[in-house]
Amino acid sequence: MAEGLTIRQLTEEVMRLAAEKGFGVKPEEVSVPEKIALIHSEVSEALRAFRYKNLDGKKGFAEELADIVIRVAHLAGIYGINLEQEIIKKGEYNKNRVWDWDKINETHQ
Ligand SMILES: [Mg+2]
Repeated sequence: MAEGLTIRQLTEEVMRLAAEKGFGVKPEEVSVPEKIALIHSEVSEALRAFRYKNLDGKKGFAEELADIVIRVAHLAGIYGINLEQEIIKKGEYNKNRVWDWDKINETHQ
């Protein structure tokens, strides 16, 4: 994949590769729960890499984050979801969103 791609172009490239490698490009060709489970597995791999201080090596944190994005782009591509648009929409929503930190058990500053 080339550098400087938009999210839409990245998704198109992931879909091209998915077609070429037989990973499925239509809803009827995949199992969504399986694809979501595989996204989970990449998230867990990212956590493990971070815990063991493997930030940029083979199977490192950076590579696992890339795996997450690729798998999400694949699933979005299968369903014709414009991830770029969705991220922008959600970012706009989050700008004015307020979290009640007293009710959430999550680190924040
Ligand atoms: Mg991985």
